Amino acid sequence: MPSKENFVGFAWLKPETLEPKCYICGYCGKDVSSEKGYRIHHSVNAGSQVGGVFICPNCKGATYFSPNYKDQVPGPLYGRTVQYVPVDLDRLFTEARDSTANGNYTASVLLCRKMLMNVAVAQKAPADLPFVEYVNFLAKEGYVPPNGKHWVDHIRKKGNEANHEIALMNQKDAIELLTFVEMLLRFIYEFPNMVPKPEKKPGQPVA
Ligand SMILES: [Zn+2]
Repeated sequence: MPSKENFVGFAWLKPETLEPKCYICGYCGKDVSSEKGYRIHHSVNAGSQVGGVFICPNCKGATYFSPNYKDQVPGPLYGRTVQYVPVDLDRLFTEARDSTANGNYTASVLLCRKMLMNVAVAQKAPADLPFVEYVNFLAKEGYVPPNGKHWVDHIRKKGNEANHEIALMNQKDAIELLTFVEMLLRFIYEFPNMVPKPEKKPGQPVA
């Protein structure tokens, strides 16, 4: 993915000045307004603007808007950023959000399952269990809020369905599982780190 640093010393060749387009950049996640890029026009009206490629003023990444602005590629990441997540897990989470935003729903579901297994093993679940057992483990160990039990049942059911066949997942499946994973990451990594840890009392031995 582009970043400001990737573009140091580089530039786009003669971009046009366009009617500005506001969008959330799928690369850097910023809410931007771009007026630089390359226009799509009506074939009978060369002066019109009905879509095009817009260059992000923040990261310089190029986003494509199809005629009449029906589709945005890449789309904005689905869901919200979670703080304090370990780097490798955060990369998987970002990839799942990106896959969901761009219609790769089966890939997103597979990534989310992988993350659930990793999170459970990090919380001392045994290795090499079936996916459903990891969901059970997280629920049993109290990582799911009391009123979230129907979520666990739902995800467990979807996990069982997919184990018996090569099932293509749809947008709803991907969004549900991603929402569940986001909640878990927030609960396990973000919330505990948002308040200061208790300070050592005077005289307490150094660990
Ligand atoms: Zn950007």
